[in-house]
Amino acid sequence: MHEIFIETEDQRAILDTVRRFVEDEVTPRAAELDAKEDPEDGFSWEIVEKAHEVGIRTMTLSEEYGGLGTDSLTTSMVIEELGKGDLGISVIFAQTLKIAQIMQKALNEEQQTRILPGFAEDPRGMLAIGITEPDNASNYFIPHPTPFATSAERADGGWIVNGMKHFISNGNRASFYLLFVQTEKGKNLADGATCFLVERDRPGFTIGRVHDKMGERLANNAELIFQDCFMPDENVVGTVGNGYNVLSDFFPQSNAYAGASVLGVAEACYAKAEEWAKIRVQGGKPLVEHDGIRAQLAEMRMLLDASRSYIHRACYLADHQEEGWDKTLGALPKAMASQAAWKIATWCMEIHGGHGFMKEFGVAKLMRDSAAFLHSDGVNRTLFLKAARFMFEE
Ligand SMILES: Cc1cc2nc3c(=O)[nH]c(=O)nc-3n(C[C@H](O)[C@H](O)[C@H](O)COP(=O)(O)OP(=O)(O)OC[C@H]3O[C@@H](n4cnc5c(N)ncnc54)[C@H](O)[C@@H]3O)c2cc1C
Repeated sequence: MHEIFIETEDQRAILDTVRRFVEDEVTPRAAELDAKEDPEDGFSWEIVEKAHEVGIRTMTLSEEYGGLGTDSLTTSMVIEELGKGDLGISVIFAQTLKIAQIMQKALNEEQQTRILPGFAEDPRGMLAIGITEPDNASNYFIPHPTPFATSAERADGGWIVNGMKHFISNGNRASFYLLFVQTEKGKNLADGATCFLVERDRPGFTIGRVHDKMGERLANNAELIFQDCFMPDENVVGTVGNGYNVLSDFFPQSNAYAGASVLGVAEACYAKAEEWAKIRVQGGKPLVEHDGIRAQLAEMRMLLDASRSYIHRACYLADHQEEGWDKTLGALPKAMASQAAWKIATWCMEIHGGHGFMKEFGVAKLMRDSAAFLHSDGVNRTLFLKAARFMFEE
């Protein structure tokens, strides 16, 4: 069997650590944090610090910086495992783990030396990526001929940035950001944008609103506001005008990681549905002994397994592109996993009957969480359009 379908010893050891972390630190607190009224209160630095202690926060950093240098396949398994405990926790680390991976490829040596040691040592070090704007969102996924509204004017030794981003995961919690800014007027966002490395304390950069979300509440999303914010030339990532390619060149597995987060939620829904089907007796026998329910559970299992295989294939091939990487793998696994998760969540609710509608059973939280990735990381419809472009135009 191909190696992507077998867990190695190393992966097993890492996943055992993650499972213990989820069991000890996440599961006991997730419902209470999810219920907090103020969206900022759903985020827990304690959980982040515990993840740091067991090496999860820095796992994708190379050994030189104290990490494990985990490959994309292993990282997706970790993200899925975290998602079984809570979607928000999975997302805050998925963002940090993936951006740390991008930074080790896309930042030049000076930039890496300047920021990675500090990020590695800071138990609260989080990372974020700012692309989406109120009027420019799906346009980024299917390059539409509009420029980003967040733009920069040339200044002595750098750029003056004005504008705002919104919906940004870890937006109010990160210490470093990758920010996409229009640096060339008269061009669209695919041709005239530049990626900048931004430090949290840079003058002219402030955090706006923290969004009040219906789910994924253990993660925070926020607005990033730039008012005459000076970015020195040393903070340009890659080359000026080449921002759009930073993600595709340096991070083909981003979509599969998003799929892994929501797959974790789908797993949690399945486990709850199976457990309930075994204890709830109607029609003289447990639900699991009724054909309709058994078939439904088997279909849920199929959707989980197929989504996971797709994610694993995308992650493996992203790291071994010469073995058959195909660009649709950078768009479709998340669409599949999130559609599967939504279906599995609604079936979990159905199998619970009226009990599923009662908050105390925990199905409602899973349903709210399972909706997050129908839109996050690209609305699925736009990801299908993106894949179709790869299939028929490139
Ligand atoms: C929980 C969460 C976390 C997020 N985290 C981040 C983050 O960390 N960083 C970041 O930069 N962004 C982030 N986003 C933004 C996310 O990527 C966008 O929400 C997403 O790209 C969709 O943008 P939109 O919500 O404005 O929808 P719109 O772009 O307004 O789309 C609305 C609808 O129109 C459809 N549509 C749009 N354009 C077309 C077209 N040309 N043809 C056909 N149909 C179209 C879409 O499919 C969708 O159904 C996050 C969003 C969420 C919800």
